[in-house]
Amino acid sequence: MAALCRGKHRWKTNCYFKVLTRTLSGKYNYDLIVIGGGSGGLACSKEAAQLGQKVAVLDYVEPSALGTKWGLGGTCVNVGCIPKKLMHQAALLGTAVKDAKKFGWQIPAVISHDWSLMAGAVQNYVKSLNWGHRVQLNDKKVKYLNIKGSLVDEHTVKGLSKAGKETTLTAKNIVIATGGRPKYPTNIPGAMEHGITSDDIFWLKKSPGKTLVVGASYVGLECAGFLTGIGLDATIMVRSIALRGFDQQVAGLVTDYMEAYGTKFVWECVPRRVDKLPSGGLRVTWTDARTGSEHQDTYDTVLWAVGRAPETKALGLDKLGVQLNKETGKIIVGADESTSVPNIYAFGDIGEGRPELTPTAIQAGRLLARRLAGKTSQLMNYDNVPTTVFTPLEFGCVGLSEEDAEKRHGYDGIEVYHAFYKPLEFTVAERDASQCYLKVICERGKNQKIVGLHFTGPNAGEVTQGFALGLQCGATYSDLLNTVGIHPTCAEEVTKVHITKRSGLDATVTGC
Ligand code: FAD
Ligand code: NDP
Repeated sequence: MAALCRGKHRWKTNCYFKVLTRTLSGKYNYDLIVIGGGSGGLACSKEAAQLGQKVAVLDYVEPSALGTKWGLGGTCVNVGCIPKKLMHQAALLGTAVKDAKKFGWQIPAVISHDWSLMAGAVQNYVKSLNWGHRVQLNDKKVKYLNIKGSLVDEHTVKGLSKAGKETTLTAKNIVIATGGRPKYPTNIPGAMEHGITSDDIFWLKKSPGKTLVVGASYVGLECAGFLTGIGLDATIMVRSIALRGFDQQVAGLVTDYMEAYGTKFVWECVPRRVDKLPSGGLRVTWTDARTGSEHQDTYDTVLWAVGRAPETKALGLDKLGVQLNKETGKIIVGADESTSVPNIYAFGDIGEGRPELTPTAIQAGRLLARRLAGKTSQLMNYDNVPTTVFTPLEFGCVGLSEEDAEKRHGYDGIEVYHAFYKPLEFTVAERDASQCYLKVICERGKNQKIVGLHFTGPNAGEVTQGFALGLQCGATYSDLLNTVGIHPTCAEEVTKVHITKRSGLDATVTGC
């Protein structure tokens, strides 16, 4: 017993409980229990099962404040990447229809968009993914339990069903992959009663109408972008800057494009209150941080995109001594995704300092499963993770922003190659390409290793994905120049970039 209670266990009762559980059962019910059936949890549990482990995955969705709920698969599938990208596609098609006229298509002068039709189709696709995940778990012999999990000790999980039924499960290892949920501001009267979040927007049956989006990072810009694109009146309220943490020159191009595209921006303002009017409209009062003046406008919908909070509350982590970052509430993890308590691991959005992205959660989950099954010691590499913001003008990037590269290497330690280019598809369509831009940041000196790449334009995600391999392999500027382009594409412009910012020369690409 002394041996079992060693380490970080400070609560005798927990130790007794653990000993009882283990002694009574003789062995664990499972090799691995994963709490959270989102991008990371599903990948981890399926990989572990493929490697012969006995696995259970618990997934439980607490309805949003508005009452929206969804099925298996987590944020990405239900209220994130998938419905977002599909609605972004709906918006891009609106632009394509306008372009199509210039390419000879005979299109009625007035075209309109039907929210219910789009949302219904997107929701049906998401439901098919929910079902697909259940089938896959079944095929791979992963036990799926639709219960809310909490930790009893480092080998025991308690699950609570919607109907209040309790289940106790034991496992050699426990993995927490419970992700996060959107935050509501706490000090704004009416914010929660009258506002919605990204947990609701994709599941609305009726069009959100005139919408105020508060917050100007990934979620805020992407949602306002597709709302504008399908013809709605959308305004973004920005507290400070847009896309904090991203290359700010490029972030500026993204918001400039959005403004030209029809999205309204209210810069450096903070909301104060939201009141419901007898007409049903929402009157928002806000303060301009620069002048202190107060303003009001009325919207049909207020969408809070002010960040996400980790889902740790229900897990009982404090009783076990699992260490959290006090500021963010996320679980402190090591390079091997271990927490401060043996046999308990955490990764994905819940892990402190981890990117909040689906592919990192999936890869980290798979690698963790392989390590726990003793098949590898390979750790997740969180360097050079590429990402794309799916705004009307997409923005893809990998590696350092110019600001961060300069901080790390100094102004004289980097060379920034850049170009303003015109996508071929913009020419006949007579679209303004002023914000189509790319930037390759290299270490200065002999090798000119590429440390950052930023790209705005059509299909930025597809373009950035390929170049991310280059950065992962340590590509240099001369490797880039030795890469033959594919003509005519936007991506080929990256292989041709040759104007340095330092030279001050015009970076506009001319000719073919
Ligand atoms: P999640 O996917 O959040 O899964 C956690 C699961 O655990 C959930 O199903 C939750 O209900 C469940 N759970 C929580 N607590 C418990 C409990 N106690 N017991 C049982 N189950 C529990 N990323 C990209 O890479 N590309 C994108 O384009 C992109 N777009 C996004 C758009 C939006 C609007 C949002 C909000 C996010 C987007 N993301 C995107 C981020 C991506 O969705 C997340 O990084 C990813 O889903 C994280 O995976 P996860 O496994 O850590 O958590
Ligand atoms: P972020 O935490 O990135 O941004 C929150 C935004 O809200 C910031 O602009 C912030 O402003 C603002 N804000 C915070 N509090 C307030 C307030 N009280 N009043 C007004 N504004 C406020 O959150 P997101 O929800 O946008 O994104 C979460 C994560 O989800 C991202 O980091 C990303 O990893 C992932 N994601 C990925 C996507 C993709 O891959 N395409 C798409 C969507 C999400 P300030 O800068 O002033 O703090």
